[in-house]
Amino acid sequence: MRLLTVLLLIALSGCSKQEPTQPTEVTANAQSQHAVGAVPDTEWVKHGLGDDEQRFSLLDQINRDNVDKLGLAWSFEMYTRRGIEATPLMVGGVLYVSGSWSMVYALDAKTGALKWFYDPQVPRSTLAKGCCDAVNRGVAYADGKIFVGTYDGRLVALDAASGKPVWETLTVDQAQPYTITGAPRIAKNNVIIGNGGAELGVRGYVSAYDIDSGELVWRFYTVPGNPAEGFENKAMEMAAKTWNGQWWKWGGGGTAWDSMAYDPELDLFYVGVGNGSPWNQSLRSPGGGDNLFLSSIVALRPDTGEYVWHYQTTPGETWDYTATQHIMLADLDIDGKKRKVLMQAPKNGFFYILDRATGELLSAEKFTVANWASHIDMTTGRPVETATARTFDGVNVIIPSNGGGHNWPPMSYNPATGLVYIPTMIFPGNFKAPSRDIDRLPKQGTYNTGFDRTALVPPNIPDIDEELASQFTGKLVAWNPVTQKEEWSLVPGRPANSGTLSTAGGLVFEGVFEELVAYDATDGARLWSAPTQSMAMGSPITYAIDGEQYIATAVGFGGGIGAEAGAISHAWEAKNRSRVLVYKLGGSHTLPPLQEEADKVMPKPTPVTASAEQVQEGMVLFQRHCSFCHGDGLRSSGLVPDLRWSQPAVHETWQDIVRGGVRANAGMVSFAQYLSEEQAELIRQYVLSEANRVFVQQSQ
Ligand code: CA
Repeated sequence: MRLLTVLLLIALSGCSKQEPTQPTEVTANAQSQHAVGAVPDTEWVKHGLGDDEQRFSLLDQINRDNVDKLGLAWSFEMYTRRGIEATPLMVGGVLYVSGSWSMVYALDAKTGALKWFYDPQVPRSTLAKGCCDAVNRGVAYADGKIFVGTYDGRLVALDAASGKPVWETLTVDQAQPYTITGAPRIAKNNVIIGNGGAELGVRGYVSAYDIDSGELVWRFYTVPGNPAEGFENKAMEMAAKTWNGQWWKWGGGGTAWDSMAYDPELDLFYVGVGNGSPWNQSLRSPGGGDNLFLSSIVALRPDTGEYVWHYQTTPGETWDYTATQHIMLADLDIDGKKRKVLMQAPKNGFFYILDRATGELLSAEKFTVANWASHIDMTTGRPVETATARTFDGVNVIIPSNGGGHNWPPMSYNPATGLVYIPTMIFPGNFKAPSRDIDRLPKQGTYNTGFDRTALVPPNIPDIDEELASQFTGKLVAWNPVTQKEEWSLVPGRPANSGTLSTAGGLVFEGVFEELVAYDATDGARLWSAPTQSMAMGSPITYAIDGEQYIATAVGFGGGIGAEAGAISHAWEAKNRSRVLVYKLGGSHTLPPLQEEADKVMPKPTPVTASAEQVQEGMVLFQRHCSFCHGDGLRSSGLVPDLRWSQPAVHETWQDIVRGGVRANAGMVSFAQYLSEEQAELIRQYVLSEANRVFVQQSQ
């Protein structure tokens, strides 16, 4: 026991990187320590901690016996008011956190003192180029440099000591609606970054740049382009055989906007690929086909970008079922054999175990409610879809929704418990074929799903906020990846959870709405929580300096939950207070008390002057062009204005705002190319109609 402890300390001392996979006996030993004592300085250098992206730390100074003594050590105010989704890094005593608008903060990890700040000056008018807010999920570190992908598609290398740019390169065609919100990954001498924008009509790819020079080393497209222009490589030629029609006119999608992982031993780089553009496959690829590499995990050579293998989770994707969710690597005993596996719980609701050397499917089971497929056929490796999964004549309620059974918040894996901790979501999605020609045409720059978005307003969804919110649940699931069974889960709660952090202290940390919570890793007992005063969406990490272990997380309401699924959050009255919060045992720092906010009073709306038919038309236009920021059926989270509460001045300057672009600097760009003056007025009439309805309800 003592020898193992010494070995463990040696293994940790001077440790700047944790080994990809830690031997179980060492972690089991660490698990049993529970001693409060000095711990060696321990960093968090990579997005998922190790190359394996397991987010399991050997630190155990904070453990299940003393976690109730955890208190705030310091906090840092970010002074921005959009979503925060970052996993911080800690390198050399400095905490590197990315905030909204791709800003980077370098903070003293012990005190929170600002060392430097970098603002890439992303034009605020680019906000509507993305689906889900100007968030950023983290920076990468290598060779004395911090790398950040910016919302407007640049990759910037910063000097880690000073924050001064070393190089900057444009990774996208800025004339197209590409965005970057994901964290770059380092593989050998390359920094690799993907992009987002499938909802808005782009063709996805990942690019590798030399970490020293910023030169493009390779680029791998995830879906084929127009065959008439030739294929970039054999993989694209193969992929094109699985498509029909003129998919390239729609962009095709397949954006790799979040998950990637690097296995140095197998020399493979894994990329999670997103949904189709548009979602509706019957428009994108008439006649079907698998549509490679949508919703797939693709393994590439990190030096060249050469294709090695792929596994497609959702062939012929049509429900926005991305496979961009967290990719985690581990060595597991499967059927008595040690296998090098890759794990993923993508949006579609199944937990996949693949052999990561070959891509062979080893097992797949539902980790949450899913009604689109009954099971995965292990002979073919394909899902067995339910009879009506693709029937869209009327409103088809599909679970998981386009938000997924699990989205970007990362999982973690504790080798001592053998469990993967998944932040899951359970809510329905309404899919209906378009009834108008305009929704059947390729377009770029507006929400491009190929479905009728009027399926997302009453009566197709509950009219009462609280009733609607009750349909949106989620829970932390502790999943045994070997038996492919849930070991335990927490009672359904709110779906807006952060990623999870696992530690050798026997703990799982998770942001749950406006709290950071620590659970017992073995049974999910709630051991500690602290109010975060804003939605804790960013993923917690841990590190140690001068003998003390810290837990750090970045908080701030927004993102997909805030911007798109306002229907859920409206009932929660969520607020954005963007901060970095860092905890340690005995920490006694406090957050400023929350100000009592006066009840929101709706200005009395003017009467509707349009006919009921015109108001209905206004609703159709609103759902097509405005709802993905301002909320389905006008239910916004408040992060983006809830138009029903618009002041008279907004109504008076409506055309200037909607078509004139006078609020472009706040992200509300001109919609003159999509909406005529008459159409903009019909939307205003719909807003007035709903505002009057709510006003009457409120005054009763
Ligand atoms: Ca999507």
